[in-house]
Amino acid sequence: MKSVNGQEIIQLFESWSPKHLACMENDPIGLAIGTLNKPVNKVLVTLDVNDAVADEAIAQGCELIIAHHPPIFRRLANIRTDNPAGQLYEKLIKHDIAVYAAHTNLDVAEGGVNDLLADALLLENRSILEETYAEDVLKLSVFVPTADADVLREALAKAGAGRLGSYEACSYTSSGEGRFRALEGANPHVGSIGELHVEEEVKVEVVLPASIKNRVLKALLNAHPYEEPAYDIIRLEQQTNRMGLGRVGYLPKEMLLQDFAEFVKKQLDVPTVRVVGDLQSTVRKIALVGGDGNKYIYTAKRAGADVFLTGDMYFHTAQDAQAIGLQIVDPGHHVEKVMIAGVAKKMATLCETKKYRVEFVQSTIHTEPFLFV
Ligand SMILES: [Zn+2]
Repeated sequence: MKSVNGQEIIQLFESWSPKHLACMENDPIGLAIGTLNKPVNKVLVTLDVNDAVADEAIAQGCELIIAHHPPIFRRLANIRTDNPAGQLYEKLIKHDIAVYAAHTNLDVAEGGVNDLLADALLLENRSILEETYAEDVLKLSVFVPTADADVLREALAKAGAGRLGSYEACSYTSSGEGRFRALEGANPHVGSIGELHVEEEVKVEVVLPASIKNRVLKALLNAHPYEEPAYDIIRLEQQTNRMGLGRVGYLPKEMLLQDFAEFVKKQLDVPTVRVVGDLQSTVRKIALVGGDGNKYIYTAKRAGADVFLTGDMYFHTAQDAQAIGLQIVDPGHHVEKVMIAGVAKKMATLCETKKYRVEFVQSTIHTEPFLFV
């Protein structure tokens, strides 16, 4: 095990929940307070950052907090230490505690907030409620001497090119002849200076998501025997790595809406839920959006959900849902606390594979402001 700094931990986090997955305009994600350029032994994972959570981080000796809700959500006009927000930032800075926020990128990420909620509700056959991200697919064609093709194909595959669904190392190879005349000053792998050389070559074609283009090109240039490898890259019509907000899935078996409401209370550990719909109807197909999903009632309806589970439902949105025949279960916003254990476990596993010596502490501070009386 080796000691690490904050930057390495966050790099690993972003390999799972990258910033480009954020789907809210100007979502203030990333490092909010402090620095990542310091050794980190303990990380506190929390839904919210408030004064009690800051005290918890201090008591636990955590140098870094990973939070779902950004502690600085709107542009700051000042940092006054005579108000609670300013006092919180002051306390965190004085104790050298950095705060990193992963908001809508963590909602979208595979295994992120929405998947964790779907896990808690045992939803099966899951799909994305609303696609918010997809990558272009590129096709790379490279010409290489036949004898060197295996090494090149392997290098491309190792860099991640040629992955299609449950297959890896996919490529297509066709053969032909390459011609070139090396000029003075060249150091040709085959042939000699000043002579036109004909080499038996193959063309290797692979597809790759646009996001890994640089990595694949680097692998190509390293593995190719020529000084000036010939290759071309074209952008295809297809897209890949589709990801998005919310999930749609099926309960293991159908139940009455009334029983589903009770099931939600138990599984998501909340004392109460608000329901729109017919408590005696049977439900099985569930759409969900963690946090505030008011915007997605029509998407949930189009997805054919029997129930849409989301928090912070407004009175008028609930009336709209009722009017379009969409049933709602609102367990509140605080159910996003599922991310505390989920992120802590995921990060502990990722750090273990890297042999990073760092501990992830799950916040035990109850940040739900509402009491249910
Ligand atoms: Zn939220």
